[in-house]
Amino acid sequence: MLDDGLTLESRYTFASRAAFEAYERDHAARLRAEGLALFPSGVAFTRTTGEFVFAERARSVDITPVALLSDNYAYVMTFAPHREAIVVDPSEEGPVTAFLRSKGLTLAAIWCTHHHFDHVGGVTALKKVWGEVPVLGSAYDLANERIEGQTHGLEDGERIEVFGRVFSVMNVPGHTLGAIAYVGEGSDAGAGNVFTGDTLFLGGCGRVFEGTMSMMRASLSRLAALPSETRVWVGHEYTAKNLEFALHVEPTNSEVSERLERVRALRASVTPTVPGTIGEERATNPFLRSEAAAVRAFAETREKASSADEVFGAVRGAKDTY
Ligand code: ZN
Ligand code: FE
Repeated sequence: MLDDGLTLESRYTFASRAAFEAYERDHAARLRAEGLALFPSGVAFTRTTGEFVFAERARSVDITPVALLSDNYAYVMTFAPHREAIVVDPSEEGPVTAFLRSKGLTLAAIWCTHHHFDHVGGVTALKKVWGEVPVLGSAYDLANERIEGQTHGLEDGERIEVFGRVFSVMNVPGHTLGAIAYVGEGSDAGAGNVFTGDTLFLGGCGRVFEGTMSMMRASLSRLAALPSETRVWVGHEYTAKNLEFALHVEPTNSEVSERLERVRALRASVTPTVPGTIGEERATNPFLRSEAAAVRAFAETREKASSADEVFGAVRGAKDTY
């Protein structure tokens, strides 16, 4: 059931305990039939206003990259045992629909990180196939009508809840002024997830098109402050090229060279390099390391750079022409 685009849940209300218990028996049978544990952790059963309310919370959050265009990723996010999926940044409709159908999923909502065509190009076509699903993006992009078909404009800190799993919106301007990240909190000993669009890439960051260097560095710093085990899902498969540049900036950083080797091995078999983790990014991404001595030294070989923003700007400038 879709309440308002910001909450997706499967909620059952019963008039009496007997009615609930009858449902519970059927539900148990269905779970057994699907080979699932009986009453998986997180199922909530609360008594409110004299009725029994049973909200079925997702056991897990699973994310699958779908490769689109030349090097873009859309992400299909699922919430077992539910069959409704959310897609993040669909630049094309066809491969997303094919993936959903192959898994027996339906599309419940579209989340966009920013208005660029290679992130939203499939929105209108997906709505034609799947109906009027909510399309989330930033309040800025809604106000400026930059995403065709957008239905919700999100503010910084806004909360989205999907089958009991909570996400929050983080404004990350710089690549564009309306760029946002979707941050899913970790739970049940699982790591959190973040969809960063073209703000943070693995080993790199997006070009600063609409914002300032200082704005972009602040956005990246907010992302870097997430828990280190947070999984990072980015807009493009640029990881190998980014790490080559990272090694150019910090030739003696062994974590960079080791990561580059792992990434090259993955790409040799066309395996996506996502997800990374925030911890890996802090250790290897030169755009999160403006305070590291080696990065500062590299910046100073190019231009006079004393503040962290100037170091960031010098490194970003070097990447633009690398
Ligand atoms: Zn972009
Ligand atoms: Fe992009």
